[in-house]
Amino acid sequence: MSSPKKITIVVPFLNEKENLPVLLERVAGVFAERTEDWELLLVDDGSTDGSAEWAVAQAQANRHVRVVRLSRNFGHQLAITAGLDRSDGDAVVVMDADLQDPPETIGPLIDKWREGYEVIYAVRRSRAGETWSKKFLAAGFYRVFRRLAKVNIPMDAGDFRLVDRCVVDALREMRELHRFMRGLTCWVGFRQASVAYDRAARFAGETKYPVWKSARLAFDAITS
Ligand code: UDP
Ligand code: MG
Repeated sequence: MSSPKKITIVVPFLNEKENLPVLLERVAGVFAERTEDWELLLVDDGSTDGSAEWAVAQAQANRHVRVVRLSRNFGHQLAITAGLDRSDGDAVVVMDADLQDPPETIGPLIDKWREGYEVIYAVRRSRAGETWSKKFLAAGFYRVFRRLAKVNIPMDAGDFRLVDRCVVDALREMRELHRFMRGLTCWVGFRQASVAYDRAARFAGETKYPVWKSARLAFDAITS
């Protein structure tokens, strides 16, 4: 019998102490019903609230948990890169720590991958608990980006997605510093599909992405 496929779940986090335990529990719940092996790869992006220490303790006790600690806060996009670089799954899921990306959507993402797709976006059917200014800016951004960059990134897809190992390897060849992972994963090609989900409100804590940071990400996205 061939060994089971392994899924790495890359989760960049900055001060998400109350969210990480719930995240781990819900991810474990998803895999309790499945045959794949899995690893939750938590990438600490310079947390100061004790969440990194919690993650390290979990990693010592639970073979499904691994931690990468960045030396300071490098930002979400670089934290994703660090996680992809250290992932060894046959497929990698990237998701946020605050449970806005529901772990239960991981199942449908894997099912699509099993059908043979190599990039599967989780596309927001709805967005709960987000300010109108952020939704308005996001909608504007996607329109401008598609026009200027000529990369047809799906509207309403964030960083929540599954990519096959071959896509991770392709992304590793591209080392620009100001990265917009969503644009890059779309640009590299491969067989792409999407799965719809309802974006939840943040479970606990506050956003680490104020509007100014979103604006900077939009700038990096378009210029890179
Ligand atoms: N995050 C990070 N580094 C940062 C900012 C955010 O790793 O400098 C993480 C954060 O902990 C979360 C994800 O990136 O897991 C998305 O951030 P957040 O939920 O604050 O953004 P929003 O959903 O409000 O756009
Ligand atoms: Mg969030």
